[in-house]
Amino acid sequence: MDAARRRELHTMLVERRREVADEVKDMMRSNRDENTQRRGDKVRDFAEDSEVSAREDVELALIQMKSDTLTRVDQALGRLDQGTYGNCFECGDEISEKRLRALPFAPRCKDCQETHEAEEQRSKQRGFGLFADVGPRFDS
Ligand SMILES: [Zn+2]
Repeated sequence: MDAARRRELHTMLVERRREVADEVKDMMRSNRDENTQRRGDKVRDFAEDSEVSAREDVELALIQMKSDTLTRVDQALGRLDQGTYGNCFECGDEISEKRLRALPFAPRCKDCQETHEAEEQRSKQRGFGLFADVGPRFDS
């Protein structure tokens, strides 16, 4: 990997990290504001309560997802240090920077991904074919 690419990918990952970290911060803040607001309410019925807690569950799941993304960005940065980030898992070629910007954790280059998806598609079809063979036959 040449130095320019490494620098580009590093900047890209660091920016991504900051974006996601900001989103997490915002979500936590709005969560907290809501909690503060709610403590001010004197009357709350059960339905309202469970509605709020369902929304909180979704928010927590989102926050969890974002933290996972942060972990993955950190891992990617670690791999970048070792010089293994951004290479295709199948053919070992460098994954284009454009692709990595869209999908920072893409394991494969575009070509390999397409081959992989085509193979998955084929094996699914094989699966159906097998199924059809053991299905009931009325014509014999
Ligand atoms: Zn590849």
